[in-house]
Amino acid sequence: MKLIINDLSKTYDNGVKALQNVSLEISKGMFGLLGPNGAGKSTLMRTIATLQDADKGIVMLDDLNVQNDKQSIRKLLGYLPQQFGVYPKMSAEILLNHLAVLKGITSSGNRQEIVKALLHKTNLYDVRKQNLGGFSGGMKQRFGIAQALLNNPKLLIVDEPTAGLDPKERNRFYNLLSEIAENTIVILSTHIVDDVKELCSNMAIINRGQVVLKGKPLQLIEELKGKVYQKTIKRTELDLYKKKYNVINDKLFLGEPIIHITSDVPPNDGFTLIDTSLEDVYFSQINNLN
Ligand code: ADP
Repeated sequence: MKLIINDLSKTYDNGVKALQNVSLEISKGMFGLLGPNGAGKSTLMRTIATLQDADKGIVMLDDLNVQNDKQSIRKLLGYLPQQFGVYPKMSAEILLNHLAVLKGITSSGNRQEIVKALLHKTNLYDVRKQNLGGFSGGMKQRFGIAQALLNNPKLLIVDEPTAGLDPKERNRFYNLLSEIAENTIVILSTHIVDDVKELCSNMAIINRGQVVLKGKPLQLIEELKGKVYQKTIKRTELDLYKKKYNVINDKLFLGEPIIHITSDVPPNDGFTLIDTSLEDVYFSQINNLN
């Protein structure tokens, strides 16, 4: 099964060009859609999830057209939106059971089996009788995945799922997604570079509605190898360096900025060549458009 996004554009009524000629091909496995807030990720996710239409372009899941065959697509689709609300006074088991009814799993025996299996899969079986209002962020997100998997989807879309999770919960969530991606197309939208680095076999970087880079994370890192240099500078020098070099990232270490620059030739000037990271790849693209 393959998802093909071809030349997709969307301009909102207020004139914001949320998507501009976006084209991507996504196969089974984990696909990372990485971009800063406002890049257009949710717009793209909602369009693929049949919740809104683009102005131009086409999205195909094999031979189904997302815009024209919404009902058929929904049968194959699982979606965990960015804002996923739960009924706080219901237990995980009861709500999941209700949602299963809404998704058309009407045979009660079958439904019980599916609900039980999903509670196990998402590691929520032991807390199935607890009210969702008392769940931690990570538990809620795992519940979100459980509901998204009710119809055994071929395409799972998760929008910014790890925001607010602590490292342990995040890892647990990663493991769950990796397992699902073994036989499902999983699209993970995120602004967190580590999410993609840890998980995704393929990725795209989106900024201001445009795909600015796509490929395999390791390959994209390889392409920038030997071009990223680092230097610790004084705070007052930052503007100067920004004028002189292609500064892709600056962060504080013990109060002093460390800058990363890209250069085809060694800049000398006290810079050291460093191992390229996916973060460097990301910032080299994001800052290109600034
Ligand atoms: P992301 O998910 O990457 O943060 P979004 O797709 O939510 O990006 O938003 C892309 C751009 O479109 C932003 O500038 C956002 O403010 C704008 N936008 C999103 N939804 C709407 C809407 N319903 N009406 C108008 N502008 C919107």
